[in-house]
Amino acid sequence: MKADVKNLIPDIGRVYLVGAGPGDPELLTLRAVRLLQQADVIVYDNLVSEGVLEFVSPTAERIYAGKRRNEHTLRQEQINALLVKLAGEGKQVVRLKGGDPFIFGRGGEELQTLAASGVAFEVVPGVTAASGVSSYAGIPLTHRDHAQCCLFVTGHLKNGTADLDWPSLVRLNQTVVIYMGLSGLPEICRQMVAHGSLPELPIAVVQDGSLPTQKVVTGTLANMAERVAQAGLKSPCLTIIGEVVKLHQELAWYEPAKTAALA
Ligand code: SAH
Repeated sequence: MKADVKNLIPDIGRVYLVGAGPGDPELLTLRAVRLLQQADVIVYDNLVSEGVLEFVSPTAERIYAGKRRNEHTLRQEQINALLVKLAGEGKQVVRLKGGDPFIFGRGGEELQTLAASGVAFEVVPGVTAASGVSSYAGIPLTHRDHAQCCLFVTGHLKNGTADLDWPSLVRLNQTVVIYMGLSGLPEICRQMVAHGSLPELPIAVVQDGSLPTQKVVTGTLANMAERVAQAGLKSPCLTIIGEVVKLHQELAWYEPAKTAALA
């Protein structure tokens, strides 16, 4: 009897944890694009933009894993189990996450499950929101005259209060970038002033950074909560606090309509 070679060599499934960047598909890495075109199945989050999904092979299965605030479509354990199952079926799986998977993306948790289950994996970094969104807003995160240090923190509130290390956030000559800080913004501004920041310290909130719907609202710790409420900003928003925000006026360059016309 002739051996069926295909059955003797099982396909080895693998999970690629891929960063999709902040939204503009032009910010995908080459490796991300190649994997999106070759994968059997893509498991993607809410933050992954439509433009990025256009690079997915038409034959690939797409599974939406959700992760909108307070309405996780699949629970984290379900996502972990799904990745293990798909790889176990011999599939090439792209786990696609907004920004960079290792920055506030639970990428580490998902990989720990894969490692414990003996599933092979690779990580493809993406442009994280701090980097991509600040670039498209024309706000350099460091600048020799203003900031020699940059902190990335999560503003996600637990029981209505942000459990942040306030003394380290209010230091001078640094930029603070807050992920997931929209609903906690009034509390964050209040706490920073209470811990010694000047009420005049500049702050920007950027909605949909790098996308055609990008909006940048600037102000100070004293007036920002009101300005953001007036502007009706919606998630995802990135908050940038520090003297570098003043440069936005001079360095803002991104005009979605014009950039699209040139492309
Ligand atoms: N892993 C992602 C972050 C996930 S946490 C990364 O590296 O970027 C989700 C938060 O990221 C959002 O609440 C928001 O603060 C920020 N964010 C992601 N994409 C954004 C965008 N296009 N514009 C503004 N903020 C964004």
